[in-house]
Amino acid sequence: STKLMDGKRGLIMGLANDKSIAWGIAKACAEHGAELAFSYQGEQLKKRVGPLAQQVGSDLILECDVADEDSVDRLFDELEKTWGKLDFVVHAIGFSDKGELRGRYVDTSRSNFAMTMDISVYSFTSIVRRAEKMMTDGGSCLTLTYYGAEQVMPHYNVMGVAKAALEASVKYLAEDLGKDNIRVNAISAGPIKTLAASGIGDFRYILKWNELNSPLRRNVTQDEVGKSAVYLLSDLGSGVTGENLHVDAGYHVVGMKAVDAPDI
Ligand code: NAD
Repeated sequence: STKLMDGKRGLIMGLANDKSIAWGIAKACAEHGAELAFSYQGEQLKKRVGPLAQQVGSDLILECDVADEDSVDRLFDELEKTWGKLDFVVHAIGFSDKGELRGRYVDTSRSNFAMTMDISVYSFTSIVRRAEKMMTDGGSCLTLTYYGAEQVMPHYNVMGVAKAALEASVKYLAEDLGKDNIRVNAISAGPIKTLAASGIGDFRYILKWNELNSPLRRNVTQDEVGKSAVYLLSDLGSGVTGENLHVDAGYHVVGMKAVDAPDI
């Protein structure tokens, strides 16, 4: 039987370990027949990413620090040499000084503001620009965002401001690339316990709050984000671009604490 993503080649960026959202997406894409390449940040992560890539039938793992334009160039040069054509790219990357992911947003430093925007926002634009050249048969680009872009969340601070800019970039990129049948979308994931999330102040409280107050009365898993990613990355999503798909157990529609939620 043919699978949804048979014959599609995609680059997954932002895999750190088996808790990463990138891993949920990679597994779902592989299950639906996609061929995958991975980029990892720095040598320490290589020994983690290698075995995970193997589990989904990939031996194409390439180093890339998105803060360094030369490093991004090298990644895409290598990918171009090996594959020539690209069908999709997943950007599951974000970073900020965790000292500023607690307390007040107003205290954000200029240097961390710039770094957070560079790594968490500009990198997506910079990657999409390079991916565009390889997406000669159309393509699909996906990034990960969070509801802290739309509404104020405790401790999310500068990352919320960065995600708002990321969500705006998705819309501008969708317009730029739409004529070439390249779609650009975001998934706004509910809170999931990952390495990056553990840097956010009171993250366990945020998880509990979402579990008690989201319409589905639970949190989402990285596999659920993976399934929704397959929709956006495959032909199922062919009419969808510039979209921000909330995969958050419905939390974003809620206006106040659930009547059956205990005080926590
Ligand atoms: P994670 O720690 O598993 O992944 C973050 C990744 O970013 C890591 O692989 C890290 O190596 C990479 N990264 C950071 N700086 C980089 C750089 N300079 N160059 C290359 N890679 C770099 O955590 P995650 O939660 O899976 O995060 C993935 C994405 O999902 C992030 O954009 C995050 O903001 C977003 N997100 C997470 C949640 C959540 O609750 N976990 C919710 C919504 C959105």
